[in-house]
Amino acid sequence: MSEPLKIALAGNPNCGKTTLFNDLTGSNQYVGNWPGVTVEKKEGRLKGRPGEVVIQDLPGIYSLSPYSLEEVVARNYLVEEKPDAILNIVDGTNIERNLYLTTQLVELGLPMVIAVNMMDLVKKAGDRIDFDRLGKSLGCEVVAISALKGDGGAEVAERAFELAKAHRRGEVPHVFTGAVEHALAHIEEHIEGAVPSKDALRWFAVKVFERDEKILARLKLDPKVAADIESHIKDCEKELEDDAESIITNQRYEYIKSLVECAVVKKPRKDNLSASDKIDRVVTNRWLAIPIFAAVVWFMYFVAVQTVGSWLTDWANDGVFGDGWFVYKTADCAAFCSDEVNAARAADPEHTWENVSGEYDNAQKVIEDWTAAYDEAAAEKGLPASEEKIDEALAGSVATHITFDDEETGEIDEEASRDYGYADYLAAKEVAEPDPADYGLWVPGIPPLTEKLFEKIGIAEDHWLHTLVFDVVFFGVGTILGFVPQIVIVFLFLAFLEDVGYMARIAFIMDRIFRRFGLSGKSFIPMLVGMGCGVPAVMATRTIESQRDRRMTIMLGTYIPCGAKYAIIAMFVTAFFGGKAWVATSMYLLGIATIVLGGIALKKFGAFAGDPAPFVMELPAYHMPTATGILIHTWERTKAYMIKAGTIIFVACVAIWFLMSFSWGFRMVELEESILHDIGTWFAWIFAPLGFGTWQGAVATVTAEIAKEQAVADLAMLAGNADSVGVAQGIRMLFDSFNPGLGLATLTGLSFMIMNLFDPPCLVAIATTFREMGTRKWGWIAVGFQFLVGYCMALVTFQLGRLFFYGGHFGFWTAVAFALVAAVVWLVVRPMPKSK
Ligand code: GDP
Ligand code: MG
Repeated sequence: MSEPLKIALAGNPNCGKTTLFNDLTGSNQYVGNWPGVTVEKKEGRLKGRPGEVVIQDLPGIYSLSPYSLEEVVARNYLVEEKPDAILNIVDGTNIERNLYLTTQLVELGLPMVIAVNMMDLVKKAGDRIDFDRLGKSLGCEVVAISALKGDGGAEVAERAFELAKAHRRGEVPHVFTGAVEHALAHIEEHIEGAVPSKDALRWFAVKVFERDEKILARLKLDPKVAADIESHIKDCEKELEDDAESIITNQRYEYIKSLVECAVVKKPRKDNLSASDKIDRVVTNRWLAIPIFAAVVWFMYFVAVQTVGSWLTDWANDGVFGDGWFVYKTADCAAFCSDEVNAARAADPEHTWENVSGEYDNAQKVIEDWTAAYDEAAAEKGLPASEEKIDEALAGSVATHITFDDEETGEIDEEASRDYGYADYLAAKEVAEPDPADYGLWVPGIPPLTEKLFEKIGIAEDHWLHTLVFDVVFFGVGTILGFVPQIVIVFLFLAFLEDVGYMARIAFIMDRIFRRFGLSGKSFIPMLVGMGCGVPAVMATRTIESQRDRRMTIMLGTYIPCGAKYAIIAMFVTAFFGGKAWVATSMYLLGIATIVLGGIALKKFGAFAGDPAPFVMELPAYHMPTATGILIHTWERTKAYMIKAGTIIFVACVAIWFLMSFSWGFRMVELEESILHDIGTWFAWIFAPLGFGTWQGAVATVTAEIAKEQAVADLAMLAGNADSVGVAQGIRMLFDSFNPGLGLATLTGLSFMIMNLFDPPCLVAIATTFREMGTRKWGWIAVGFQFLVGYCMALVTFQLGRLFFYGGHFGFWTAVAFALVAAVVWLVVRPMPKSK
């Protein structure tokens, strides 16, 4: 069989190339709305002719000039590798601008078909396009399609295939005026021997006329020939009183203008504003844009973290991976309750699961607190601990104050909060643990079922297999998987916002802000990609030509929370802030603020200075996205998250479990004697100014470099050991123990979250950073910078938070925090240093 024919998809950004590519090849991949994502070449086999045709998706470009990476990639492919045919996609709603590229593509002398896309929108707007006329003038066939609706794509590909097979080239249209044509004819004559492909002679001639340096270097013309050509160009420039490049550009536009005038009939718009434009007036409004964006992010978190997502995650974490869950409770359906419970309820309507289990929990707390008080007193007297024997005389004198607060509202229960003595302890001992199965239709979670199974086969609670399964599978990996519902919701939102076209607006808004500070708006595009994962974000910086801007973008790009960081945000916001969506939103906006301020500060260093590259940002019209597109997109990201939980996170949890369960002598021990305890202690001091200078805090922060959600898995494992109180409360108790008695759990949690959101990203992203930075030195600079940023932000949060809100005293670290704030302000507002 012969080599398959190659058909290249070429067109402006957002003209629908990727959509058509997916339609033609059936391979599903990224469909985004901003230029640049397709800078890597993508190939696929044509559906129906898999052996005969390869389709190549080229990066979206506005012209074949050498000014951006995409343009160079695309034109090198078209000129040097020469596809067998070009399928030029033209956005029918924006035909003038799109044809600019078309007039250049036809000069390549390759078989070519033009597909006018978005015909559904063109028809809706009431415009009419005369395809025959367009085709005659441009010298190639023009076909109407709608890639999104799947109309005409297959036909146009078939047509391109036929042309490619027959090597039928089009005719070069008459674009330029006499004077230019005259010069071009001379140039063609001169360079005919030097061009790599005779077909593209016209294209090379135009490029030589424009004095395109890359092409002149490629042709290596004889100096004498070059001088002769130059004199022709000069003559022409003199005659037309303009420079050569502008002459070509202007004449192309003149040609397109007159062509469109006779081939396209636009229905008069009522107020010249499409619905899309009207929406944009509000959405990209100077003052409203950012508040609207914040509201959108808030709504996303409201659904994901505060309401729907958290219900599902609670069910997953406390139900499936916890004790279990009720399908029906007492109040709903008596038929599912045991006879005793129904009898008790007949006598006392308050005899519900909530009250009975609440009483039991309170009794447990009484037992725990009272024995602690007793043990303390016993130790003083040299008596044995409560576990061995209770001394009645001593017990009678021991009483302890216990405060009870409502789990939901956090309010203190005045009636129940009082001193508890020995009699209360004895009474509490009598309270039997209620069985939820008596109170309704109860589905046990996986852990209790496993417990039963282990009991049957004789694996005790302190057996290593028991702790391995419970710690690693239920607390570690289980917690991470418990966040899948929230992650799915976040990803669904992001996919929707991307496909609708809203994210392109965000890039546009950010460009406006960035530009004011001498930053390129292009830097923001990789960051939008980073909403799913930091790795493609770092890779997407390839679209930035300026090395300095590229490096800066890599260093800052991962501050947009990725999927793994959503897990951290969700966990901490649930554990410490009652799952409030606005706290999660603040973390998001803090990320953006860090990027903007970091960019401004870095720009003033010589290594990053320089004017921003010009950036053409085209806002595509809003589209109603397809459900399959969104679902595929969401599924791919969620799948990656789950695979990570089952592989990297699982292995890391096993390692952590081993280290936290065994001593250096490989004996199973309590946490405090474990290897992990010792390792964590070695560098816990580093985090002391941040409020979590404990071995647990250190271990979680360091292992989070493996994968960000590992921090949550670690904490769940470490907290899970304490009690069966649910992951969120366990973590809160753990953080409370970091600064015993000071009530700083929430502040410490916030500081820990900030450290882990703003320190270097995970290992894979760091490896990508090193690769994309090019040199090892710059890799280390990036990681060092990120560590500093995270560390300083957490330090300031903890120290100043404590000073202002928790009655802390002014000390050395508070002074450091103030100095840091002052330093950041100075770095941001200082004037741009004069360059040499
Ligand atoms: P690319 O940048 O050229 O790869 O363009 P994409 O394939 O990513 O498409 C950009 C946007 O245009 C996406 O939101 C598509 O859903 C949308 N789109 C593509 N083709 C059509 C079409 O025929 N009709 C409509 N209404 N939208 C389309
Ligand atoms: Mg694309």
